[in-house]
Amino acid sequence: SRNNAYRGRFAPSPTGPLHFGSLVTAVGSYLEAKSHQGKWLVRIEDVDTPRVIKGAADDILRTLEAFGLYWDETVVYQSKRTAAYQETLDNLQQKDWLYPCTCSRQQIAAHGRPGQDGFIYPGTCRQTGINETDTSNHCFAWRIHTREQIIQFHDLLRGQLQLDLPNELGDFVLCRSDGIFTYQLAVAVDDAWQRVTHVVRGTDLLFSTFRQRYLQQLLGYVTPTYCHLPLALDSQGKKLSKRTHAFPVSAADPLPTLLAALAFLGQDVSNAPRDNIETFWQWARLHWQWDKIPLV
Ligand code: GLU
Ligand code: ZN
Repeated sequence: SRNNAYRGRFAPSPTGPLHFGSLVTAVGSYLEAKSHQGKWLVRIEDVDTPRVIKGAADDILRTLEAFGLYWDETVVYQSKRTAAYQETLDNLQQKDWLYPCTCSRQQIAAHGRPGQDGFIYPGTCRQTGINETDTSNHCFAWRIHTREQIIQFHDLLRGQLQLDLPNELGDFVLCRSDGIFTYQLAVAVDDAWQRVTHVVRGTDLLFSTFRQRYLQQLLGYVTPTYCHLPLALDSQGKKLSKRTHAFPVSAADPLPTLLAALAFLGQDVSNAPRDNIETFWQWARLHWQWDKIPLV
């Protein structure tokens, strides 16, 4: 059936233990997939090696298991996928979509306009050809030219969204000057390669979706359906993240945390079974209502 084709995924970065915010994303993407009899894939986004914490990936996987969040298929590690990213980068470069950029963060902040998702790149290096750049010291990033284009996509919760990519987000980096492929490139390549049909993730990545849509168009990839979940915030109203040392979830007593995650996603948990994880998940799969997810 059509539903058997559903392929969702959870893509944590191993920069620390799983915290409540990432558990919410895991639960939301898992239940969306399972309520469609779909597959739920796990991909470890360890492409930014300097930020990776040793042991964090295993820790996240063990925590998912303790919560009864079992994935389908083999876990994909982005650190093993650099050949595919390089091939895609070469392909875009040959098609003249990329240019070398030597701007520092400070230069971009000084000359770029502040946008909704960071500074908008002012286009400083757009005219510079690779021949005028000293490629021997490799002190440049590969940036993609965003040509005049309205990018749109449909979000399951938020409806049709659109944005003027060059004017509202601007040219973005695909490979950093230290040779590390960026999140935008890696995710676009891997979602296509893993034949992901549905991307359910935090709304902090809403603007990234426009960038990834752009890459999908240029590369001729099929576009998944998107669903951006509300973000769990701390008491100061800041996003919970591993970087801000949000409290890790406890694998020792998963049920209360799972109930809290479901309640956060707007589900009525008053009749949820509380005796064990298996009956909890059977119930949760059956009673999952994506249209109850609050729009924040
Ligand atoms: N690795 C990203 C994160 O942990 C999520 C990427 C995604 O779902 O596309 O924030
Ligand atoms: Zn530049």
